[in-house]
Amino acid sequence: MDVSSSPLLSQILCCPECGGDLLFKSHSIVCKQCSKKYEINYINEKPIPVLLSSQSDCIVSPEEDADGLPKKPTLLNRIAHILWPPEPARFYGDLQRKFNTKNYHRGVEEFIKRYHPKDKNETVLIDLGGGKRRLKNYIINIDVFASSEVDVIADARFLPLRSMSIDGAILQSVLEHVAQFEDVLRQSYRVLKFDGLIFCEVPFYYPVHAEADFARFTKKMLTFLLEKSGFSVEEFRITMGPFSALSLSCRVILSAILSMGYKKLFTAWYILIGWLTFWLRYLDIFYPRNQIVEYIMPSFYIVARKGRSPHA
Ligand SMILES: [Zn+2]
Repeated sequence: MDVSSSPLLSQILCCPECGGDLLFKSHSIVCKQCSKKYEINYINEKPIPVLLSSQSDCIVSPEEDADGLPKKPTLLNRIAHILWPPEPARFYGDLQRKFNTKNYHRGVEEFIKRYHPKDKNETVLIDLGGGKRRLKNYIINIDVFASSEVDVIADARFLPLRSMSIDGAILQSVLEHVAQFEDVLRQSYRVLKFDGLIFCEVPFYYPVHAEADFARFTKKMLTFLLEKSGFSVEEFRITMGPFSALSLSCRVILSAILSMGYKKLFTAWYILIGWLTFWLRYLDIFYPRNQIVEYIMPSFYIVARKGRSPHA
């Protein structure tokens, strides 16, 4: 999906600085109100608007891999990549292999199915922080990293979307990567129409997994944050069970102890112990779903609605 071929996309975009209308030119975008000029990145000839607010501290580098990995890895990195064990945790209702889509599971699928496919030309759904994945061809992928699957490059704290312009927002493993996560929720609330839904998935009992990894959330904390932003919570579900937590713990704790503080040794143990223990995640098929399991769940999601009454 790109601005030149999707009238819908160009209609909902606005200046992240002042909210003004945008004028789309072949190699740049100009705000009709504040005259700020924005670039367009081209990846595989697809134009991707770079709509970053001047308040944003995000730096867009099209040369960098979407995961932040260097393009030319060392020999050791390449060997580690070949030997890398399967994921330690497993989504409940995992659909990643079936649809070849990262972090895709039944919870996400059910959320998308709430929006009737026949309305897909009018229904606007965004995958905020979707990165290199494409959930559906009609879902707008917004990320700070440039990749061929990204439709708009933007900072989730300063969304270049008109207020009340979208029907649904998917934020899967996004909030923990933004230090000012409350700004992201406030922006999501602003751009959603009344009755619009947010799908918010976050880690709770999960090891640090990126350079920019700032927070963990309990069910109560995410509920509090969503309600503070104006949403009403409709659904809660655990997406990884206690055996995923056990598998994660075995891998990280044993590797950390055996590495004696050496990062390369940690990676070597991580690979070996990963292969020995990853199968524990499959025991999650049998775990009892009760409140006590919430104390140790690696991740969960909440679906919340933007109600009609204005938020005070
Ligand atoms: Zn402007």
